[in-house]
Amino acid sequence: MSEKLIEFNNVTMFYNDPDEAEANENIVPALLNVDFSVNKGEFVAVLGHNGSGKSTLAKLCNAIYEPSSGTVKVKGIVADNDDKADEIRRIVGMVFQNPDNQIVATIVEDDVAFGPENLGIEPKEIRRRVDDALKAVNMYDFRHREPHKLSGGQKQRVAIAGVLAMQTECIVLDEPTAMLDPMGRQEVMQTVHRMNKEMGITIVLITHFMDEAVKADRVVVMDGGRIVMQGKPREIFSQVEELRSHGLDVPQSTELCNALGLEKSVLNVDECVEEIAKMLGGAR
Ligand code: ADP
Ligand code: MG
Repeated sequence: MSEKLIEFNNVTMFYNDPDEAEANENIVPALLNVDFSVNKGEFVAVLGHNGSGKSTLAKLCNAIYEPSSGTVKVKGIVADNDDKADEIRRIVGMVFQNPDNQIVATIVEDDVAFGPENLGIEPKEIRRRVDDALKAVNMYDFRHREPHKLSGGQKQRVAIAGVLAMQTECIVLDEPTAMLDPMGRQEVMQTVHRMNKEMGITIVLITHFMDEAVKADRVVVMDGGRIVMQGKPREIFSQVEELRSHGLDVPQSTELCNALGLEKSVLNVDECVEEIAKMLGGAR
């Protein structure tokens, strides 16, 4: 059995006072009876249209919130006090959508050092971690630069380096590419995959880009505060109608091959090209 790093057990989350919610049926929970878990080393993508509960799920993973009912455990720890919440944040790091809100210092390397400084790590070790983290995200040459002069993708990689320098086992990224141009998106996604494959960091990637979910080990689809689909990317993306019913599309390559009436479910451009070539070959 693989080791569970994050475990949600029947989690419901109301932002309003639960008593108020009980009295007023128009108040709906942001999450309802969610069971969710992430294994160590896994890459999980969480999809869902706006308001489906993705960010709430992310913030519960990192003990930013406590659930209204049910339990969230991170390596068996429940964040029922501030010390335990701190302990959880040393295991699970977070990267948010807007890089500008995450950058705190005026020099790149100082920004990356901020997290480990707060953990009380000694300066020599911080120096080493900052250098390693900046190299891992390909931003080492920019270490003396001012973050506000970087591109969106570069800033987001600096934010990721800041989390890497804290050496958490897991990183939850909440729509980290939503504000980036295609180049920035690609840079960030390559970095995230490298952290998972080469550094063994567990990844929870929240995204509304279907093509970013294709390479995950597992895809979780949320709608109305519930998990409505879960499985390997190929299983999920072959259920086109069901995905649409949850307000989601399939990756463009999948869509094209479906539109062409090809039987096989394809997930990316290469597979799509292969299937179309077969179709054309067969027609000849
Ligand atoms: P997503 O990230 O999928 O867009 P969220 O988790 O942000 O979804 O939101 C889920 C639901 O919770 C939405 O209905 C949203 O309006 C509500 N919500 C989110 N954050 C808050 C908050 N701080 N206070 C009150 N309601 C919130
Ligand atoms: Mg969100």
